[in-house]
Amino acid sequence: MKYVNTVSGPAASNQLGRTLMHEHFLFGYCGFQGDATLGGFREREYLDACLKAVEDARAYGIETIVDATTNECGRNVRFLKQVADLTGIRIICSTGYYFEAESSFAYWNFRKGFADVQQEIYEMMLAEVTQGIEGTDIKAGVIKLASSYQQITPMEEMFFKAAARVQKETGVVIITHTQQGTMGPQQADLLIASGADPGKIAIGHMCGSIDASYHEEVLKRGVYVNLDRFGLQGELFHTPTDEQRMDLIQTLVDKGYGGKILLGHDSVNVNLGRPIVMTEMMRESLKDANIRTIGAKVLPGLKKRGMSDEQIDALLRANPQSLFAS
Ligand SMILES: [Zn+2]
Repeated sequence: MKYVNTVSGPAASNQLGRTLMHEHFLFGYCGFQGDATLGGFREREYLDACLKAVEDARAYGIETIVDATTNECGRNVRFLKQVADLTGIRIICSTGYYFEAESSFAYWNFRKGFADVQQEIYEMMLAEVTQGIEGTDIKAGVIKLASSYQQITPMEEMFFKAAARVQKETGVVIITHTQQGTMGPQQADLLIASGADPGKIAIGHMCGSIDASYHEEVLKRGVYVNLDRFGLQGELFHTPTDEQRMDLIQTLVDKGYGGKILLGHDSVNVNLGRPIVMTEMMRESLKDANIRTIGAKVLPGLKKRGMSDEQIDALLRANPQSLFAS
């Protein structure tokens, strides 16, 4: 039997149940750490928000949540373990860094002057997958990678190559961030050329594009597509609507790719730092940006489009299971 690391220890990968493939319990834009005097960690408030998110996800049968927060954006495995302990939900946490413009590569750029950075990134990811994170025995269950809009920068490429090497040695699943769906085929090609197994790769934020032929171009490489931004719509995000995304799912299922589609919201349940002040545009764009949307809108929307209960359930259950069990 295959196992996947959760923050509560190993779980049988064929018993994950309905799984959301890309959410954030905590997320902080890089630099939030520097504003800790006025925007410090408000544990009780954050815990309440995360317990509510788990309850909302459970309402439509979710049993496992992949937390895609990267190391430098506020990943906090002790907090995630607390959420898992209090609720019994399975949480799979990540190792990796975000895309260049919103990451903190200054550290690695500095080290480039005297160290083999690609080797160091490999060692970091390997340690976090096999030994534990930040002195705990909590291990990462996925590697999270990210690239920029229309390009994979040289530093991002180092993370991709290091991740492929860790996957070859450990079998760990790789999930990615694309900017608005761009660079999906290139991400897959880079990972596969570096030795990664396409059956253990999920190319993320692909629902930034609703062009079915573009999705096929990615899917024919043998990877999964993660349609993981349900609920994020409108001007602020330059994305398709949820209705268009559901039409895309139906088209891909009709073309025989129903076994390769994964779902999520990219919800941020807690923004680290000082509280956000919502503008009118943000309020409108974010009105469905929460962990309830797949249950409330997507599952019924797919059924209305004629998909069977089995086909719909597979997107949340059988597909994540085969990704983690392959
Ligand atoms: Zn995300």
